[in-house]
Amino acid sequence: MNINKQQLITELQTKGLQLVDRPSEQIGTNGRKGGAGPSDHKAIAIDGTTVMVPVFNSVASQSPYSINIDQDDLILQLDEKAIAPISFPKSPNFYNLTTSDGIPYWKIALLHSHDVLATTVLQTCMRYNHTETSCQFCAIGQSLEADRTIARKTPTQLAEVAEAAVRLDGVKNMVMTTGTPNISDRGAAYLTECAKAIKAKVDIPIQAQCEPPDDFIWFERMKAAGIDTLGMHLEAADPQVRAKIMAGKASVPLEYYFEAFAEAVKVFGWGQVSTYLLAGLGDSLETLVTTCDRLISIGVYPFVVPFVPISGTPLANHPAPSTEFMFSVYEQVGALLKRSQMSSADIKAGCAKCGACSALSLFE
Ligand code: SF4
Repeated sequence: MNINKQQLITELQTKGLQLVDRPSEQIGTNGRKGGAGPSDHKAIAIDGTTVMVPVFNSVASQSPYSINIDQDDLILQLDEKAIAPISFPKSPNFYNLTTSDGIPYWKIALLHSHDVLATTVLQTCMRYNHTETSCQFCAIGQSLEADRTIARKTPTQLAEVAEAAVRLDGVKNMVMTTGTPNISDRGAAYLTECAKAIKAKVDIPIQAQCEPPDDFIWFERMKAAGIDTLGMHLEAADPQVRAKIMAGKASVPLEYYFEAFAEAVKVFGWGQVSTYLLAGLGDSLETLVTTCDRLISIGVYPFVVPFVPISGTPLANHPAPSTEFMFSVYEQVGALLKRSQMSSADIKAGCAKCGACSALSLFE
């Protein structure tokens, strides 16, 4: 492929891909509309790499990237000029199954990228329904309202779906995130219960994601339950940006996150704890790079992803970061990762291992 892959993926993830008017038999049905965290994406394979690209939001509808169908081949085009063949991962077999109580498996967990099983164990969040506390980029309630998921996935349901996804589709690791149910364990207790049930049924590496709990003893309990890696997501680092974009979550101070990171690294290991940083929410290049440097120095993998404005959220019309801004972040954070020999490939499970929502791993 005669193109710069770093440049292409960075640009596709900031500008998106025009796709919405294509019939599903041409483009498949695997996408993420709504849901917790980054969303409105679709998995696309380009030159052996699977990436998540925004397709359902307003940015994507203006993108210079589109696809052309030439007989059975899908061709990515830039300003209507062919640049690379692409493909969409096919719908997984486990999507055809239902639980004994009649719930389709795809309402319990989804395939992300091509080999990750992802679920939001609690699809409600104490912060979400109040404008003064909600995270303005989040769409956790949208998929519930649209009946594309259920509010609470039971440990038994999760174990059943995970076993089928491994057996039928060769899924390699699992990500469990959660809305924040309370201000004490902040979801760690329920994630622990779910992990225990899953690991009793199938041997799959698991990442859990939650806010830092009030008592760090939860890290040991999570690990003992079979959780291999932990994500505690800052999203933004500048205190002013945090207060403006996610007032509720910002009530947990940055310094508390750093205390939690240090304790979690002792339990899960160096490089097995990670955080999300959404570039484009307002953090400057310098803030992002300095924060990543601090995170890496204590053993935390900083998974920097471009902020994608999700339709239906308060930030639906907030601009996505520019390709140039993302490229600079990736180059500088990639150099810091290289210097510390921290690599996404060494992570046992989770978003940073999957890497599909960011181009960062191409810069490590
Ligand atoms: S990086 Fe995380 S959110 Fe993105 S596709 Fe992979 S598992 Fe899903």
